[in-house]
Amino acid sequence: MKNWIVFLLLAASFSAFAQKRIPQSVNFRKSVENKVRKGKKGVPGKNYWVNKASYKMDVSLAPLTGQVDGTEDITYYNNSPDTLKDMVLALYQNFYKKGLCADYNTAPEKQTDGVKIKSISVNGMVLNGEKAKQVRTNLYLTLDQPVLPHSTAKLHVEWSYLAREGNTVRTGNYGEGRHFVAYFYPKIAVYDDMDGWDKADYLGITEFYSDFNDYDVRIHVPKDFVVWATGMLQNPNEVLQPKYAQRLAKAKKSNTVVSIIDSFDVQAGNITKQSNLTYHYTATHAPDFAFATDKDHLWDGWSVTVDPKTGRKSFVDASYEKESADYYGVAKIAGEALINYSTDFPGVPYPFPAMTIFNAPSGMEFPMMCNDGSTQPLSSTMGLTYHEIAHTYFPFYMGINERKYAWMDEGWATFFPKKYFKDYAPDFDFHGSRVQRYLQIAGTEAEVPIITLSKDQHNRLIYRNSSYNKPYLAYYFIQQYLGEPLFKSTLQGYMHDWNGKHPTPYDFFNSFNTHSGKNLNWYWKNWFFDKNYADIKIAKLADQGIYLTNSGGLFVPIKIVVTPLKGKPITIKKELDFWKNGLHKRFIMLPLQKNEIKSVEVNNWGRIPDTNLKDNFIEP
Ligand SMILES: [Zn+2]
Repeated sequence: MKNWIVFLLLAASFSAFAQKRIPQSVNFRKSVENKVRKGKKGVPGKNYWVNKASYKMDVSLAPLTGQVDGTEDITYYNNSPDTLKDMVLALYQNFYKKGLCADYNTAPEKQTDGVKIKSISVNGMVLNGEKAKQVRTNLYLTLDQPVLPHSTAKLHVEWSYLAREGNTVRTGNYGEGRHFVAYFYPKIAVYDDMDGWDKADYLGITEFYSDFNDYDVRIHVPKDFVVWATGMLQNPNEVLQPKYAQRLAKAKKSNTVVSIIDSFDVQAGNITKQSNLTYHYTATHAPDFAFATDKDHLWDGWSVTVDPKTGRKSFVDASYEKESADYYGVAKIAGEALINYSTDFPGVPYPFPAMTIFNAPSGMEFPMMCNDGSTQPLSSTMGLTYHEIAHTYFPFYMGINERKYAWMDEGWATFFPKKYFKDYAPDFDFHGSRVQRYLQIAGTEAEVPIITLSKDQHNRLIYRNSSYNKPYLAYYFIQQYLGEPLFKSTLQGYMHDWNGKHPTPYDFFNSFNTHSGKNLNWYWKNWFFDKNYADIKIAKLADQGIYLTNSGGLFVPIKIVVTPLKGKPITIKKELDFWKNGLHKRFIMLPLQKNEIKSVEVNNWGRIPDTNLKDNFIEP
């Protein structure tokens, strides 16, 4: 008997201990030992480093054939303590190459020869054959002379590929000269303290992992094509006719939306200079570069204050098809998103000087550029615009590894717009719609723990759930639990500490614990590491109260409504930490005796993802 009590006490303390820890990966622990990351404190360590590249590119696009040719001079800064004997460059366009087994298949007639590397040299030494090898979507370089710690390497690459019409996963050739050109140039992969070179292939589902780079890009297109790109246009007077260069200058100063090109202008033509069209764009501290072009897009723009303290402004514009009815309002919506995100929630000033929403049938973010389809109703237009702009913060301000942990950016990009639906479509229940989406998979064998590496999830439903819907709910419930002010300051603390760096999930969890002043490991473990779902059930109505179970084990807040035989219903609330001790069967005292009660209901009215609502109601 006594032994049993000792055993039970031990078991209880072990379970309490287990709740306070989250499983940490060995590579993270090694980074902590090397003082690259500070572990529990959730901040970068004193030896933290991040590499960087500076790209000078010349790109020629033949819009009608889709031929893209480029040369690039890259300066790569190896800030790591490691000697690099090899390098990895991503060749995203090999996604369409014959023979690649990707997440989305390219029809045989649309497949291409992938990226042709015409020449590549590192520090003046030409690499070919075995020393510059294409495998799937990466180019692996074996260096004759290694890149030493804290030194730079100069690369020169000449390349080309064919953007076939209809190849439009996220970006591509939309026909009749309309292109969104992204994931297009050989790009140095991230080298980090967790994995060394990022060798993940681009197979369609997972997106970014980037260092923070500088870009100086000249884009050559035929006459009449206008180019929108990441960063700021350096030479509007050399590429646009004076009338349009003046309107652009006016829009950059205007605090209301200005039409730069309207449908009459397109009809009249003669918008660009008529020879030697070279658009020169530059961007600094940006994780990637993209551009888009068309010859008959309309163009609106204006300027918004993103940092009221300094008065800093950003230029916001929309480039769109004249048939896209919703797009006549998109420049305004996008500007409002920049203002809301900068000054309200998350309350971090938009970090870049520009944002262009380009209209092509996709829904995809790039730094300072979104590639968005036309959509109805207003809640969809607003939701899409706000979602893609939210990616500015994750992963373009916080350099998270989306290939491994897409929830660290898609979850936030799903969460950020929530607050603003009321301003555009007050009747749209955004939260309820996310609950319903998660319930499509919740508790099934296909649901994987959020922490599962994204690059290993090749099924869209599984990936969408573990990256968008469930993480959105996880952020939502922790916001409810902490309260909005503490949640916001905690998020801001995390964003402040890791801006321009590569936070891992462990840094995120630790940072949230530190900035909130609470050890939330019981929550992180339950929502992110364990295979849990919610199934609340009233197991029994006893004389003094009810027995409640949560057989799926997922921690969710609950609301109990006791309807007496006489008088008004009484509501009892239990917060997330009600389940914290790990027990999934609980007794709850009710303020009435069984014989005074008409019914008891545990419901959430669409607010929590309860997989079975049929067992949430009981009568004596
Ligand atoms: Zn997204």
